[in-house]
Amino acid sequence: MNDQTPIIQVKGIGEKTQKLFQKLDIHTVGDLIRHYPRDYEVFEEPGMISGAAPGTVCAVRACVVGIPNLKRVRSLSILNVTVRDASGGMLLTFYNMPFLKSVLKSGGFYIFRGLVQTRGNGRVMEQPRIFSETDYAGQMSAIQPRYGLTKGLTNQMLQKAMKQALTFYEYEEEYYPSWIIESCQLESGKDALCGIHFPADQEALLKARKRLVFDEFFTFLLVLQKNKDISRNLPNEYPMKPTEETRRFLEAMPFSLTKAQFKVWGEIRADLEGPFCMNRLVQGDVGSGKTMVALLSLLECVCNGYQGAMMAPTEVLAVQHYETVQDYRERYGLPFRPALLVGSMTAKEKREAYGQIESGEANLVIGTHALIQDKVTFRSLALVVTDEQHRFGVRQRERLVGKGYTPHVLVMSATPIPRTLAIILYGDLQISVIDELPADRLPIKNCVVNTSYRPKAYEFIAKQVSMGRQAYVICPMVEEGELEEAENVVDYSEKLKAVLPPWIQVACLHGKMRPSDKNRIMEEFGAGKIQVLVSTTVIEVGINVPNATVMMVENAERFGLAQLHQLRGRVGRGSHQSYCIFISTKENRETMERLDILNHSNDGFHIASEDLKLRGPGDLFGIRQSGEFAFRIGDIYNDASVLKQAADAVARLLGEDPELARQENEPLRRHFERIAADGVDFRSI
Ligand code: ADP
Ligand code: MG
Repeated sequence: MNDQTPIIQVKGIGEKTQKLFQKLDIHTVGDLIRHYPRDYEVFEEPGMISGAAPGTVCAVRACVVGIPNLKRVRSLSILNVTVRDASGGMLLTFYNMPFLKSVLKSGGFYIFRGLVQTRGNGRVMEQPRIFSETDYAGQMSAIQPRYGLTKGLTNQMLQKAMKQALTFYEYEEEYYPSWIIESCQLESGKDALCGIHFPADQEALLKARKRLVFDEFFTFLLVLQKNKDISRNLPNEYPMKPTEETRRFLEAMPFSLTKAQFKVWGEIRADLEGPFCMNRLVQGDVGSGKTMVALLSLLECVCNGYQGAMMAPTEVLAVQHYETVQDYRERYGLPFRPALLVGSMTAKEKREAYGQIESGEANLVIGTHALIQDKVTFRSLALVVTDEQHRFGVRQRERLVGKGYTPHVLVMSATPIPRTLAIILYGDLQISVIDELPADRLPIKNCVVNTSYRPKAYEFIAKQVSMGRQAYVICPMVEEGELEEAENVVDYSEKLKAVLPPWIQVACLHGKMRPSDKNRIMEEFGAGKIQVLVSTTVIEVGINVPNATVMMVENAERFGLAQLHQLRGRVGRGSHQSYCIFISTKENRETMERLDILNHSNDGFHIASEDLKLRGPGDLFGIRQSGEFAFRIGDIYNDASVLKQAADAVARLLGEDPELARQENEPLRRHFERIAADGVDFRSI
């Protein structure tokens, strides 16, 4: 078996299971073995009931007391069982598992493992797993991987398929030259793949992970370096003079630029006028006003008679930018003639747009990535702005250069990273920083609370809506393939509709919706026709609805702080007081401590570094990360030292052998040719 082998050839995977795997975007054995565990479970020695701390997952050895009580509530069957040990008692609740009534015998001893919660004065476990003594002992010896799942596909099924695939997989020969293996202390690719899925112990896991993280960073940096070579010192083919229109707009615009925006605008202007092609990153916290800086650059561009393009990572965001531009154009008579280009447009609409772009009738093109790839021919493309999460990579650049363009490039990012890391990760870009928020902003008021606060939160939302404001609710994440993400969001919004006053318009948004539906919902939310938007994290980046003042996040404990900060950044974007409610289902100290960082700071940079301090080596998984570096496993903060190692290795390698032509680098060259041919998605390449 190799990377291309279809997963149906793995023993135990039939057509039906294959379909389920496809839902997880797993089509080949290569996809499967790179479906790394979401986190791991360690089965500890069972403890006493009295020592089972609420909010933590525990195992207890206990005896069933009396007959289990089965009742029905509408379509749900609920089974309650009391269990005891020498230290005390506890209630177990099982949903839709009526057969357990005859399985759990009064007086029988079992090991129950699950999340401990409090109800009234007592402890409860909902849906604990049940083990016999021997089964549990068997599990205790290993670290168990837990995978991202979908409905119908259990963790056990995934583990089984993974074991099969790892047994028959043809592992690639070592491709790094030996000095890299030695100086960076890397284990083999085979050991790493086996070790990440089924580690013998914590140490094996860390070693496996290190190799995979290194691989990921190394690949990224090697390509980045190539990018840098391509863009270094390209002549400025499109010099731009300051124009009267830009000067006038700066005076007329609805607010004055912050000092930081002004400084960055100066840096961009100098590039646009200067001898070399611009290749610049603008880093600025959420809400710092990056769009305005982009708009000014694009204005300068069109006023100099060229075309500009603005790319966004999602259609929703592209449409939002398009509307912002239209709005400014109308209000301030700006000479923009924008064209929108997104996937959900009809073929006819697209053809029209292509025509306008080719003829120059449109001087500003706004869209998703497609706008520089498709059948688009520009008349005079001179500036490409990419917003949030879209590193403008080597492939796009090559494509444009191939078409005869070497436009200026401006990349906007809200990912807060320390300068030392930024230099490595954005090695091919000049860096500008907007380190100040507009002065009219009131600091967001935050609270971190448990689920019992929900009714109050809903009341609060209703009150804000009655004052004319709007709210976002970020849905709980989906656990263990219970529900599809989409169903989950729909379900939640139905429940919310039932508790909010009927005149409040609630709508939902999730990744599986058709782009045109998403656009419509966002448009209606933007126009205030919808007041409460229930969503997954699809709204995380870029969305700007200044009238929204409440952000409520369910399951906040499962997000990385950087991501929570991004989500929070959707509110507090206007002059109204804004609020952020983080609901946590875990109340243990570490979770609270971590979330508390957000409570006390609205500064993305500070949050990222505090987060880093709190996360120890045992906490490498289980927290979703985000940001434009969509590494599958590496975390730029946590793995900063590996990142530096990889950067040094790439620098030395290319310093000694820039074309990878030497004999000892032959396997590495072949490796990269191979992964490039597989179309491996590095996203940012
Ligand atoms: P981000 O940096 O997150 O992309 P935006 O560019 O969307 O932020 O700006 C957020 C909001 O702040 C927008 O509504 C924008 O109009 C407003 N804004 C931008 N610059 C300023 C400023 N200098 N003073 C006041 N408001 C501003
Ligand atoms: Mg933005």
